[in-house]
Amino acid sequence: MTTELFSPNYLESRARFVQTTRACGAQLHTYTMPWQGALGEDLAMDVAIHGPADASRVLLTTSAVHGVEGFCGSAIQTGLLQSLLSPPDVAVVHVHAVNPHGFSHARRVNEDNVDLNRNFIDYNQPLPVNSDYAQIHAMLLPEHWPPTPEQFAKLDALTQTWGMRRMQRAITSGQYQFPQGLWFGGFGPTWSHRTFRQVLQDHLTQASEIAWIDLHTGLGPHGHGERIFACNDTGETLQRARQWWGPEITSVDTGTSQSVPLSGPIQMAIYEECPQAQYTGICLEFGTLPLSQMILAMRADHWLALHPEAQTELRHAVRSDMLQAFNPPSPAWQEQVWQQGVQAARQAIHGLALPR
Ligand SMILES: [Zn+2]
Repeated sequence: MTTELFSPNYLESRARFVQTTRACGAQLHTYTMPWQGALGEDLAMDVAIHGPADASRVLLTTSAVHGVEGFCGSAIQTGLLQSLLSPPDVAVVHVHAVNPHGFSHARRVNEDNVDLNRNFIDYNQPLPVNSDYAQIHAMLLPEHWPPTPEQFAKLDALTQTWGMRRMQRAITSGQYQFPQGLWFGGFGPTWSHRTFRQVLQDHLTQASEIAWIDLHTGLGPHGHGERIFACNDTGETLQRARQWWGPEITSVDTGTSQSVPLSGPIQMAIYEECPQAQYTGICLEFGTLPLSQMILAMRADHWLALHPEAQTELRHAVRSDMLQAFNPPSPAWQEQVWQQGVQAARQAIHGLALPR
């Protein structure tokens, strides 16, 4: 039953993942973080190695790079541990809860208000500048919530002037100027950033070939899994990705994706930590609600973080909207995402096992 793969909180997701890892004889490695979860529980990035630890071909999956998106990613990883079969020289490495704090607190960002998928920039270089975001920061996070009709109208008017794509880019491509703002990339590498690099160093430096499926939710049509190309090379590597995962693979560089080009994605780490490997990867992004509703839920979530004095009723409404937005409580949606998740994993295993 697909619905049984989905858990109501981080604590149960983690327990289910760890239990399944043990039950199927996979190795478990735990990287504990020095923060506590929303229920007072321990938080950790857990790594399951299913198959030979010295395999030269590895399928890597990651969940909860954006914390609250981890309900879906964790469910797929747990289901794959139960059902995925791979050839002798292929291992599957599942990194569970890359951002455990955000997962536990049902936030997309981490303990530092950082969007991890904008945190993998080179901090020796000047920080990227997002001047459009600077223009709208105060409009996105007004003093009171919800915004007034006048405040909504002002932002709508600017969206008319800019166009939706420019507005989406302004808000979501990443910004490095407002540490309490939306889609903040961070002023330095976060715990999850450093720990994820450690995971790659510990478990993937033997691999000569790596396929990576990074699991996300919240963008695109409800229940549709968009396969977004997540590599630097749009030549040979894109061809290989199309061969493995199908011609429908989209790219932020060509504008065929629902997503926009972003600064500091987590995929940068694989080039730096595993330069020995041929890497082919996608983000598998499952749609939930329309973009405007997603952005509103995120604005409310950030507003709440800035306003601990908010009334209980509003607090609950904001948390509930975040969960609805990133983890729809619908068995049909859950079935759709599981089917597409397991299909993408099987395609990757097949691609890795192809003779060369
Ligand atoms: Zn995401």
